[in-house]
Amino acid sequence: MTNFSDNFALRGRNTFGLDAEARHWAEFRTAAELRDILLRCREQGLPWYVLSGGSNIILTGNFPGAVIHPAADGIALIGPGLVRAEAAVVWDDLVAWSVERGLGGLENLSLIPGYAGAAPVQNIGAYGAEAKDTIETVEYFDAATLETVRIPKEACAFGYRESVFKGSLKGRAIVTAVEFRLTPEADGKYAYNIGYGDLHDRVMELGGPSLRNIRQAVIAIREAKLPDPAVTGNAGSFFKNPVIPAAQAAELRERYPEMPGYACNGGAAVKVPAAWLIDRAGWKGFRSGTVGVHPKQALVLINLGGATAQEILNLARRIICDVEQKFGVTLSMEVNIL
Ligand SMILES: Cc1cc2nc3c(=O)[nH]c(=O)nc-3n(C[C@H](O)[C@H](O)[C@H](O)COP(=O)(O)OP(=O)(O)OC[C@H]3O[C@@H](n4cnc5c(N)ncnc54)[C@H](O)[C@@H]3O)c2cc1C
Repeated sequence: MTNFSDNFALRGRNTFGLDAEARHWAEFRTAAELRDILLRCREQGLPWYVLSGGSNIILTGNFPGAVIHPAADGIALIGPGLVRAEAAVVWDDLVAWSVERGLGGLENLSLIPGYAGAAPVQNIGAYGAEAKDTIETVEYFDAATLETVRIPKEACAFGYRESVFKGSLKGRAIVTAVEFRLTPEADGKYAYNIGYGDLHDRVMELGGPSLRNIRQAVIAIREAKLPDPAVTGNAGSFFKNPVIPAAQAAELRERYPEMPGYACNGGAAVKVPAAWLIDRAGWKGFRSGTVGVHPKQALVLINLGGATAQEILNLARRIICDVEQKFGVTLSMEVNIL
């Protein structure tokens, strides 16, 4: 029978470094172990929650049930360009593995914290790439039927930091493995993706596009801009970039001609960088007690030491209200709240 560790401290299991305890902590490697954990939760009427790398979560208090943690971390090439990663593979280890083997598709997503199993849940993205661009199949364990299910990417309802796992399958699907379709660099047909932000210039400085150079450039840019959670507690981007009607964007551009934005929905809407709105509203580098806004990236809220979830959420609400008043744009949170 799978072991339940009782009164388990979660502080070292979330990158915000928040203090909280799980009534039980249960790790699984196989579908049989996961089935066992879920059956125990059912029998004892316990709620459960999946926590992987804890890099996109705010823990608001002690969890009264079982926190389920994936532990299987194998990576395997299962066909030409087809890579299977089990849920507990550290995401950046998978990126490094693929780049070392000359398989393209994940390099722009270098250094994103967390586990491979969370990548389809969040549809992680950075530097013009998203997990959905390479995901072929997601395997999950269905807590309702207690069976393993495999779904193709078309059934994952991927959107901007969205997926079916945050929608209709929330609280039901536990991702156990993800399969990615990658492209061999050696074929000479791989289309490198370096058009985003300052990536192009960095890659050129390193000698031009290659999987290794892109990975190296992305890592350098990220290390320069983002706080290291091992040093400063944070969960990466706290807010999503809002998508607003094109007419509203045009009005805002009359007031703020320098406002950046990317046309989407066939030109009917514009995605505005939340970081720009927060920065323009004067919050970048803000500090109050135990919480603050990162001085180099306004999207990142930081724990200055001993912050509580309430203090972080209060700061987030103040920013949301202020941005709404100044720009008429409502920010929504990217981070998950438990
Ligand atoms: C410094 C920093 C930089 C970041 N940069 C980026 C970035 O550039 N792009 C980006 O997209 N994100 C970024 N993030 C956010 C975060 O790294 C990603 O969202 C990551 O995918 C979270 O993985 P995790 O394993 O830590 O998930 P967790 O935080 O453990 O969980 C996140 C959510 O997914 C659910 N979940 C996790 N694993 C599973 C599973 N196996 N099955 C079902 N549900 C599951 C959890 O229940 C929870 O709701 C950043 C975070 C930090 C701290």
